[in-house]
Amino acid sequence: MVDIRLTNTRTRKKESFQPLDARNVRLYLCGPTVYDRAHLGNARPVLVFDVLVRLLRHVYGESHVTYVRNFTDVDDKINARAAQSGRDIRDITEETIGWYHADMDALGADRPDHEPRATDYITQMIAMIENLITRRHAYVAEGHVLFDVRSYGEYGRLSGRTVDDMIAGARVEVAPFKRDPMDFVLWKPSGEGQPGWDSPWGNGRPGWHIECSAMAAALLGPSFDIHGGGMDLQFPHHENEVAQSCCAHPDGEFARFWLHNEMLQVEGKKMSKSLGNFFTVRDLLDKGVPGEVIRFVMLSTHYRKPMDWTEAKAADAEAVLRRWRGLVAGIEPATSPAPAVIDALRDDLNTAGAIAALHDLANREDLPVFLASAQMMGLMLPEMGSWAEAGDDAAAMIEALLTARADARKSRDFARADAIRDGFAAAGVEVKDTAQGAEWSLAAGFDEERLAELARAYSA
Ligand code: AMP
Ligand code: ZN
Repeated sequence: MVDIRLTNTRTRKKESFQPLDARNVRLYLCGPTVYDRAHLGNARPVLVFDVLVRLLRHVYGESHVTYVRNFTDVDDKINARAAQSGRDIRDITEETIGWYHADMDALGADRPDHEPRATDYITQMIAMIENLITRRHAYVAEGHVLFDVRSYGEYGRLSGRTVDDMIAGARVEVAPFKRDPMDFVLWKPSGEGQPGWDSPWGNGRPGWHIECSAMAAALLGPSFDIHGGGMDLQFPHHENEVAQSCCAHPDGEFARFWLHNEMLQVEGKKMSKSLGNFFTVRDLLDKGVPGEVIRFVMLSTHYRKPMDWTEAKAADAEAVLRRWRGLVAGIEPATSPAPAVIDALRDDLNTAGAIAALHDLANREDLPVFLASAQMMGLMLPEMGSWAEAGDDAAAMIEALLTARADARKSRDFARADAIRDGFAAAGVEVKDTAQGAEWSLAAGFDEERLAELARAYSA
């Protein structure tokens, strides 16, 4: 069996990964809160986990992995969006889930096996909260149910802090009914106009953290293999998930491996609305950056390092992928990926190393193995490649312009012929004059609109 090694936040060590059940390897990734388009940073955990799941399916078998990623569809940010827009909550969450699917599909991320919505698991959350109250890990106060952090000796272990450090360092919400400032909400009352469900504590709604504990238990059991998310979720969200789950199921371990990706930045700076460098995955796709290029750039940095999105990286990635797609035209993938690529991925998901190995294979022209290896990482898949091909329209425009250029040369209008040549270069069309005539291909940065302008100006 391939020895996969992963850095486990729980132990802060790179450990050999052994699943609880090799016939059903189980993973959970915290998914999005659905009130707005996913920003580029949100795509990072999705792509990291997508590669991890592909690796696990390669090692344990296609049907021996269960991957769960939730949709948080009950949250005060969603309520605020509904109030401000006058729309129905359900309309907003449905529309946002549709966007999310379209955007992550465009990045070549496979859909998880289960995508539970929090609002479909309220019954399980209420049962888990009742269990926590019975075991004296939670208490009722003023219509709220709170988790008693002092009742769980291990609280803070995942993120490596003590409760007293947290109180000193954190902005904690102090409420008079909390026994300890770090106690967090499991259930809260809903007022007029807020979504609410009947519960033993009155009409109310869950706090954020309980949903992941309840959905992971329902779909993966009290112990499962890997839990992931961005570093920003390590505390308090993941710490609270551990506390709730381990106290509700004292015989379970909850997640055995915790994987956290570092944050994404843009041109060296934190991505934020106030810096004006905030954009969504859809913004990039609409600007013409292919999903496959976004995927390539994301995987070029190891998930445990901060990653910088730059336009230069996107342009480089586009050039590499165009070249690679040119190389494999007509080639069928081999039946297995290259050992060098698997070796990089099994070493704490070293996607940057795996891409270096792909460069090597492409340079050695071991094309069937190269293609199988790239596809194992979700790159160079036929269904992701339409961006790199010239459509019929582009091909017709290029042919018409080549005829116009030949005519210009014949009539010794060299200024016109040169203008067409320069126009091709500016639009990203590479033209080679050979003894058999002109041959063309699309270069990095191919721009169909500029080509259309050129065609309007010069072809008859
Ligand atoms: P949210 O909807 O904000 O809870 O985020 C959904 C997922 O995206 C979580 O796993 C976050 O940790 C992750 N995430 C949010 N911002 C970034 C970022 N800038 N870089 C990488 N991951 C992020
Ligand atoms: Zn979660």
